[in-house]
Amino acid sequence: MTGNVNTKQKGKASILLIYTGGTIGMIENPETGALESFNFRHLREHMPELKKMGCDVSAYQFDPPADSAEMGPEGWQKIVEIISENYHMYDGFVVLHGTDTMAYTASALSFMLENLSKPVILTGSQLPIGMLRTDGKENLITAIEIAAACEGGLPMAPEVCIFFENTLLRGNRTRKINADNFNAFRSYNYPPLAQAGVLIRYDSAQIYRPALRKPLKTHLSLDRNIAILKLFPGMSAGVTESILNAPGLKAVVMETFGSGNAPRQEWFINMLRRAVEGGLVIVNVTQCVGGSVEMLRYETGQKLLEAGVISGYDSTTESAVTKLMYLFGQGLTPEEVKEHMNCSLIGEITIPDK
Ligand code: ASP
Repeated sequence: MTGNVNTKQKGKASILLIYTGGTIGMIENPETGALESFNFRHLREHMPELKKMGCDVSAYQFDPPADSAEMGPEGWQKIVEIISENYHMYDGFVVLHGTDTMAYTASALSFMLENLSKPVILTGSQLPIGMLRTDGKENLITAIEIAAACEGGLPMAPEVCIFFENTLLRGNRTRKINADNFNAFRSYNYPPLAQAGVLIRYDSAQIYRPALRKPLKTHLSLDRNIAILKLFPGMSAGVTESILNAPGLKAVVMETFGSGNAPRQEWFINMLRRAVEGGLVIVNVTQCVGGSVEMLRYETGQKLLEAGVISGYDSTTESAVTKLMYLFGQGLTPEEVKEHMNCSLIGEITIPDK
């Protein structure tokens, strides 16, 4: 089934489930043994619980559903369009998505859905729904409950979140940290928004709430001319140059060491300076899983600042990449993009007090 089935009953919360693919709905190919995406009917058959939920759940399936390794700007645009077209008909949205690139999708959606005032909860699983030990059922059921939860008529979590193994996290703060464990996601630089045990406990102080009820504004245009440059000891000048000089490149997310440090070698610093002078935006994020870039702390960081590299603060790589795609997609100049990288648009970074 592709498209919407609206079965809303009076007084009940209504949730739109957007099934994009991922392990949760996969089955094993008997010939190759590999997991392959399967349709929503299969998922629904293994989830009789969906009918027992205290809210109405309608579904929209990507056709065909896919492994999240194939997800990118087109898929994000499609999710945004589906949410936008159905925004007034539903109280919340659950996006079923593969875990591999879920943090990129969640980050992108947070920038593309401006003035969001309803929950958009991404979830998936490490084991397919048809397997006995699947983590998919609990993840999906709780994600739907969170998307439907409200207090005083207002949703409990009106932002783009990832729910996985008991924890609700801000989407643009999250990264996948484990390929095997059910507990696969972390947000090291921002506290969880809720914990699900016997009860679902929300940490309301951490949840973003739009001050004004402005109408949802969607941004579909994204610029792909972004690269990630992960530093490592012994990196060659030739490789660095080929990345920085890639045709059409507009921005680089540079993953540096520790609190934002890089080698001081002249060839490297000069190469960065020349690239920045040529209009390239270079954003410094740390390779560490937690903590923030602080370029003034060490001489090795200060050199980068002098070369024109800007701080990504405590941003995840996923968030920095998609924020740059979004900002350049708005047609901003490199200077304007730098200004916006220096502020938190939707809670994606923490700027320290001066
Ligand atoms: N390869 C799968 C995907 O990202 C993994 C998963 O869903 O856990 O689509």
